[in-house]
Amino acid sequence: MCWALQTKWLWLQKTDQSRPWHGLTIPIQQHVKDLFAASLISHVENGSNTLFWTDKWLNGCSIRDLAPEVASKVSKRALTSLTVSQALVNRQCIAHIKTPLSLIGIQQFLLLWDALGDVQLSQEEDRHVWRHEASGLFSSKSCYKVLLFGSTVFEPWKRLWKTWAPPKCKFFLWLAIRNKCWTADRLQLRGMPHPVVCPMCDQAQETIQHLLTACIFARQFWHTILAAIGLGHLTPTADEENFADWWRKASLRVVKTRKKGFNSLIILGAWCLWLQRNRAVFHGESPSLPRIFRCFPDEYVCWVIAGAKEFGSLGLVADLGEVGSSFSNNL
Ligand SMILES: [Zn+2]
Repeated sequence: MCWALQTKWLWLQKTDQSRPWHGLTIPIQQHVKDLFAASLISHVENGSNTLFWTDKWLNGCSIRDLAPEVASKVSKRALTSLTVSQALVNRQCIAHIKTPLSLIGIQQFLLLWDALGDVQLSQEEDRHVWRHEASGLFSSKSCYKVLLFGSTVFEPWKRLWKTWAPPKCKFFLWLAIRNKCWTADRLQLRGMPHPVVCPMCDQAQETIQHLLTACIFARQFWHTILAAIGLGHLTPTADEENFADWWRKASLRVVKTRKKGFNSLIILGAWCLWLQRNRAVFHGESPSLPRIFRCFPDEYVCWVIAGAKEFGSLGLVADLGEVGSSFSNNL
């Protein structure tokens, strides 16, 4: 289950006592509990809503961090339920420590005893601060940032997920950019039957990057489509080895007002190339530019009807069939 959601439950349980499930035990994964514990700083006032042993309330640290030897002698139940206010009444926390303590444990206990001497409770409610937001309040966005800290960033995420396109096409392109499509290279790695050469150009090994970018079939396709909107100069070159790189560079050279339409067009084009490839592999059809240019306008019109308003900014010819027919007539 979603880690951010589980973290939010812990936050609400801590800060919103009006929740009907406030006092119940919620099934939360241990690493989520650890993340929450590391992300929360408690400011003790009356001490009734702060856990004595595990919450970070004493100089920004928890007692378990400050005196691990002592905490190891406390029952799990006391660790997870004893509040600061309960613990400080007549120093009842001592009653939960099982003796004997080691020498280090005794040293930690004495330091702890001194530190607790300075604690004064008040009548106010305890305050809890989420460390990853300036406001101190929990947000799912900040939680995700912490969870994904250090992970690899998927560079084209904005172009892909913020662009209008049917979800299945976006999903396909997401897999393609991550080299997760079942092309020859991937099949070969797993010892599975695979085409020896690219079924579209019969010249190079089939990879998804080649299929969508450097393949002569793909480049002729892109050139025709892009030339129709005055962007023929953005056609990928034979040296272009990475689809996402080419898309990023090409997108940067498109004016802002046409960018969304351009990005939708790229997804549509990649999708048509993939369909054409699958027909070649699974139905034995010969790769055919005239055929893909008959398929492309049909898909384009379907996308427009379904809501791809951004295409309007491209000024593509009204009758897209002409794009294909004019090309095929020139073959
Ligand atoms: Zn090829």
